[in-house]
Amino acid sequence: MSLPPSPTQHPETTIEVLRTTTAQTVVTATLPTIRMALSPPARPVPAGDTGLEIAKFLIEDGVITDEQLAYATRVRTKLSSERPLLSILNEIGYVSLDQQRTVLRNHRVSVRIGALLVELGHLRGQDLRAALALQRESGSSKKLGDILLENHFIEENKLIEVLADQLGFPQIVPDLGDIDRKLLDRANPNWYLQRHFVPIRPEGDKILVAFADPLDQRARQDAARLFGPDLVPLIASKRNIREVLETYKRHSQNLVTPVVQVDETSHVVELVHNLLLDAMNARASDIHVEPMKNDVRIRFRCDGVLSVYKTVEKKLGPALSNRIKILAKADIAERRRHQDGHISFEDPKTGRQIDIRASIYITVYGEKAVLRLLRKAQLVPMDQIGMFPRTLSRFCDDALDLPSGITLITGPTGTGKTTTLYSCVNYLNSIDRCITTVEDPVEYIIEGIAQCSLNPKIDITFETTLPHILRQDPDVIVLGEIRDRFSADAAIQAALTGHKVLTTFHTEDTIGGLLRLMNMNIETFLISSTVVSVLAQRLLRRVCPHCAESYQPNSTELQRLGYRRQDLENTTFRQGRGCSVCRHTGYQGRVGVFELLVLNVMVKDAIIQKCTSHEIRRISLETSSMVTLLEDGLLKASRGETTLTEVFRYLPRLDKPRPLLDLKRLVGIS
Ligand SMILES: [Zn+2]
Repeated sequence: MSLPPSPTQHPETTIEVLRTTTAQTVVTATLPTIRMALSPPARPVPAGDTGLEIAKFLIEDGVITDEQLAYATRVRTKLSSERPLLSILNEIGYVSLDQQRTVLRNHRVSVRIGALLVELGHLRGQDLRAALALQRESGSSKKLGDILLENHFIEENKLIEVLADQLGFPQIVPDLGDIDRKLLDRANPNWYLQRHFVPIRPEGDKILVAFADPLDQRARQDAARLFGPDLVPLIASKRNIREVLETYKRHSQNLVTPVVQVDETSHVVELVHNLLLDAMNARASDIHVEPMKNDVRIRFRCDGVLSVYKTVEKKLGPALSNRIKILAKADIAERRRHQDGHISFEDPKTGRQIDIRASIYITVYGEKAVLRLLRKAQLVPMDQIGMFPRTLSRFCDDALDLPSGITLITGPTGTGKTTTLYSCVNYLNSIDRCITTVEDPVEYIIEGIAQCSLNPKIDITFETTLPHILRQDPDVIVLGEIRDRFSADAAIQAALTGHKVLTTFHTEDTIGGLLRLMNMNIETFLISSTVVSVLAQRLLRRVCPHCAESYQPNSTELQRLGYRRQDLENTTFRQGRGCSVCRHTGYQGRVGVFELLVLNVMVKDAIIQKCTSHEIRRISLETSSMVTLLEDGLLKASRGETTLTEVFRYLPRLDKPRPLLDLKRLVGIS
C-alpha cells in the first residue's frame, strides 16, 4: 500500500467559529420535521465544513450527486441547531449506512479524525472547534487526536471503536510475545514511543504496524520510512502501545544489558564512581557487585527489591573489587578472606554525602561486594508512621503511655523498626522524663535525650554499658536491639525495676517475638509481667501516585483471601501502570504495615501456661483487638496505598483475613 499525499488543502485550523444567534428548539431526527423547519434566514455554511469534506468523497464515488449535496446543505442551513451533514444525507435517504462505511474505507487515508467524529455524531461541532483552538494555542505542535482525548471530548475506546468500525482498521492489543523482534529492533523504543506506533510482524510481503492514530500522516510516513511503503495499519490504544514498548525497554535493560567495554583501570575508577552516584540518585539501599560465571552483574536494591543495573565484562571483576576495597580501606592484597570496610562518598557536583558500609565476600567466582548505603534515619512523627487511628491510639494509650514495661518492635531487617523506635522516643521525649539509649550505632540524634553508640574497640559494649545506664536515673531506657539472652535479661531487669523499656527484636510477627523470648529459657511469668506490647511491622511498596490506576482483584486473589466479590464493597484497589517517575516499577516509596499485640490478662495467662503459638495467636485475635500484618496490609491495599501483589509477597499468611468491614471497625476507619 502506498501513502498518498493528504488531499485536503484547507487545514482544520482554518474553520471559523460559527455561532447560533437564535435560541430555537432542537429539531428531532425525522425527515418531516427537517422539512418543516426550513425557514429563512439561511445560515451560512462555514468554510472548511467538516460535512463537505466527507461529502466530497461521496460525490467522488458516485453515491450522491452535486444536486443532492446542494439540497442537503440547504436543508442544513435552515436548521436552527447544528447537525452533521452526513446524518442529514442519511436521513433524507441519499446515503445508506453501508454506503457511508464503504466510502469512508475507500478514502480512509484522507479522512481527518475531527471531521469524521463530528460527521458520525461522536463529537459535537463546538467541541471540535474548542479542540482546534487549543491546537492553535499549542502552536499546532499537538495532534488533534491527543487534544480530544486529553480534554475528554471523546474516550479512547470510543475513538478506536469508530476508527475500527467505520474505517475498517483492524483492532489489536499488541503483546510483546507476538512482536517480531527484528522489526522492533529497527528503531529505539523511545523513537516508537514518541510516534505512538509499534511494528507487529510481516504478513506476506506486507508489514503489520499498530498505530494509536492510523490517520496520523506523520506517523504513517515515519513508519513507511522504516518498514517500506507496504504496511498494513492496525489500530491499538495509545496505552497498549506504550505498555508493550515500556516492557520491551525493561526487558532489554535487564536481559540484554549492554556489556560495558572498559579495559583500563582508570575506567574502572569512573565506573565505580558512576555506580555510587547512580545508586544515590536511584535511592537504592544496597549495591551488589557480583562475579558470575561469564560476566559481572551489578544490581541495586530499591524499595526493598533487587533489579539489574548493569552487566560488565568478566575480566573487569578483579579491578572492580580492587577499586571498592581501596575506597573501603580494606586490604587489597587479601583475596581469600571475607572483609568489611567503610566508604565516605561525596557527590562532587551537589556536595551530597553518604556513608557506605562495604562487605566483601569470597565466592567461587571471585569477590562479591555488597555496599549498603547508610542514609540518616528520618524522624517521623508518631501519627505519620502509617498506623490506622485505633491502632495508633491503642499503641499510645496501652503501651507508650504506661510508666513501665517493655515494648518490643519486631520485624526482619530493613522493615523500618529503627524509624518506629525513634518515633516512639520522640513521642516520649518531654521535660519531665529522662531517656537514655544504648544503640549500635546512634542513627539519629534527638535533642534532650542521652544517646550512646556502642564501640567495642574501646570496650563500650552492651555488657559494660548497661550497669551505667541504670545509675543514670532513667525513666525510659532504649536498647537498640535484643540480640541474645544477656540483652533480653537486661531489658527484663530494667522493666522489673520500674523502667520503661523500648527495644527491637528480629522476629517475624508479634507472637513470634513472645515465643522467641520463651525459647531463650526466660521464665514465662517474667515475660508476662514485663512485656506490655509487641509491635510487628513491615514496609510495603507504595503505589506510584503518578501512574496509579484502579483495578478489581481477580478471582484467584479473592480465593487466596477467602473473600467473595461482594465483600469488596467500598474498596479502591489500585496499581501503578509504570511511568518515568517510578522507573516503570509502578511503585514509589513505602508504606508501613503494623500488627499490634497489647498483652491483656488472657494473653498473659496463655504465656504463663506455655500455650502453643497457635493458641496464643487465637487468644490475641479474639480478645485483644489485634489486627494481623496481613489484615493491616489488606486494608491498605483496599484503600489503594499498596497492591495485593505486595501483600501476598511480603506478609505472613497464617490465617485467612477477617471480613474487611470488621477490620475497618477494629482499626477505626470507615
Ligand atoms: Zn509511576
